[in-house]
Amino acid sequence: SVPAAILSALAAAARGGVLFKGGSALESLAEVETFAFDKTGTLTTGRAEVTGLASVIPEGALLALLAGLEDQSEHPLAEAIRRRAAAEGIAARPMRDVVNAPSEGISGREAGSGRRFWAGNARMAERMGARIADAGVRTLAKTAETVVYAGEGDRLLGAVTVADRPRATSARALTALRGAGVGRLVMMTGDRRAVGLRIGAELGFAPQDIHADLLPEDKVALVGTLAAGGRVAFVGDGVNDAAALARSDVGIAMGVAGSEVALQAADVALLSEDLARLAAAHRLARRTRGVIR
Ligand code: ADP
Ligand code: MG
Repeated sequence: SVPAAILSALAAAARGGVLFKGGSALESLAEVETFAFDKTGTLTTGRAEVTGLASVIPEGALLALLAGLEDQSEHPLAEAIRRRAAAEGIAARPMRDVVNAPSEGISGREAGSGRRFWAGNARMAERMGARIADAGVRTLAKTAETVVYAGEGDRLLGAVTVADRPRATSARALTALRGAGVGRLVMMTGDRRAVGLRIGAELGFAPQDIHADLLPEDKVALVGTLAAGGRVAFVGDGVNDAAALARSDVGIAMGVAGSEVALQAADVALLSEDLARLAAAHRLARRTRGVIR
């Protein structure tokens, strides 16, 4: 049977918005050597503003295309783009046959014409054979912000930048974990290195612990590598990181708004998008370990 100390700790955690899938998850959390964090949507809101736009076609047309594609995406960046189009009174161009390219972007056919458009990062642009030659787009891409390129086949149509910002609660939670003597804190992102380094530095990650340009399978592999140094917890929002949640010793899914897949892959669910809850749960796990030993 489950010791009373564990049951009462699980109940206390639940009151604080942290659900453990059983007592062993609580015990594992106390033993974690490395915490690995997904960036977009986990450490950051991913829902900040579109801060820049450069377009080869009329700006309204670019936003209409982007909004049409991102209408069908659950990625946190998609919301920023949809909001920008809405704020400018631009209607999304309906898209069909939409295909998600995890950690790269999205593509789909314009409902009326059947023409295929895409939106995504530099890797996606490269895969489409689109050269980033336009001077305006190149200038935009020099900022340390997340860039979403858009194109039709190998024709680059433009790009927007999205200012991804750390959540107000992230820095404090990381400080608490460091204070608790957790061996290592690592950031993993599918975003490009410039953005990873900027946000990582803001949150106090050591440069060698910031990993960028990762595909979902790279996150899984990296969790495996880190596991050689002890128990690993992966904290993610479930967008492009459900496999990493599953691979880690303690998968921690943030936000129940997150996908069903994330909840299934995880051992722990944070009901709110607040990493302070994680730090509190970690303290509780450590205390409970002390009690039952
Ligand atoms: P993270 O690992 O930081 O959470 P992701 O792996 O989810 O980031 O995404 C990596 C990158 O892929 C994003 O920074 C973005 O450039 C691109 N991307 C992913 N999904 C989309 C989308 N729906 N629209 C545009 N770009 C996207
Ligand atoms: Mg993410």
